[in-house]
Amino acid sequence: MERLRAGVLGATGMVGQNFIRLLDNHPWFQVAYVAASPRSAGKTYAEAVAGRWLMDTDIPADVADLVVVDASDVEPARTRCDFVFSAVELDKQAIRDLEERYAGSGIPVVSNNSAHRWTNDVPMLIPEINPGHVEIIPIQRRNRGWQNGFIVVKPNCSLQSYMTPVYALIAAGYPVESLVITTLQAVSGAGYPGVPSWDVVDNVVPFISGEEEKSEREPLKILGRIEDGRIVEDASLRISAHCNRVPVLDGHTACVSLKFKAGKPSSAEILGIWQAFRAVPQTLKLPFAPEQPIIYRVEHNRPQPRKDRDAGKAMAVTVGRLRECPVMDYRFVALSHNTVRGAAGGAILSAELIRAMGYL
Ligand code: NAP
Repeated sequence: MERLRAGVLGATGMVGQNFIRLLDNHPWFQVAYVAASPRSAGKTYAEAVAGRWLMDTDIPADVADLVVVDASDVEPARTRCDFVFSAVELDKQAIRDLEERYAGSGIPVVSNNSAHRWTNDVPMLIPEINPGHVEIIPIQRRNRGWQNGFIVVKPNCSLQSYMTPVYALIAAGYPVESLVITTLQAVSGAGYPGVPSWDVVDNVVPFISGEEEKSEREPLKILGRIEDGRIVEDASLRISAHCNRVPVLDGHTACVSLKFKAGKPSSAEILGIWQAFRAVPQTLKLPFAPEQPIIYRVEHNRPQPRKDRDAGKAMAVTVGRLRECPVMDYRFVALSHNTVRGAAGGAILSAELIRAMGYL
């Protein structure tokens, strides 16, 4: 299979660097185009990230010499890449406009940004949960008069840790009525340099702007359905979220209490459901799909960010501490890697899904 030429908008940032790292030697995609702010434009990629390359591996040789383009200049991307990943840091309206200009120019956009998450003909994908939402792409194109371009987004990193285990239970026939979630979120979720060390070392910050609203609302769209040319939310699930920033580099933890609508399964059944859970990315054997999407750890003190964030190529969700809850039905702890599964890796898996479904 010929590799598609991928562009990365915001290639010099925290998420952008993860794209560059994770796409090195990808079997389907090759980084052919890097774009960022006017501050980086005109420099080689290596020059643009000099002194701020945050990855543990070296800059891939075939990207180091690419010249960074100003992301606001869509024209060069038309001939140099087949689609783009978007991870720019701008205000929401500017991101919406930018992504629409790329899509309108015939360039598909797979975005990490929140700007289009609530656009009702834009799918917000967790490929294990709602791969069917990809089918709204032809409607989106028709709505906007776009020929080849489209926009898909991935959800906020905070909810990736608990949505797959919760969805697995719903898919197995146990609808969920309500969730109370407390997240313990890594500092890398705020980009670089992110939260000042003065605020976060030896501390917990019980507020992340906008995060609780995203954690409570985005799952409803992900669990929704395509109807009358748009994605209609599943309003039957109620979520209460407490989001905290903690002094962890990578890996978002979520402590979850869950109540079923009716008929609660036994804990043995729940463990069996999580163990057996496989979805479209696994069936299609997508390159970034973890073989075991939900890993249950039986140790009483897991999951932990340092020990579990890299499980399943950092794309799996690790769950532990399933126990009954005296207020709701069950409690458990779940963890995922926020800059891989929750950001660049999740977007790459979405692009793989879209390619496998014939839209790329
Ligand atoms: P970041 O480290 O601050 O990087 C921002 C990127 O945007 C850089 O490449 C920067 O280029 C570029 N940029 C800034 N101003 C620009 C402009 N005027 N025109 C074009 N490009 C511009 O941020 P990040 O953490 O990577 O986050 C990027 C996006 O992904 C954000 O929208 C964020 O909310 C989202 N996200 C982040 C995470 C996470 O875990 N960090 C997870 C999910 C989603 P220069 O280097 O040239 O300034």
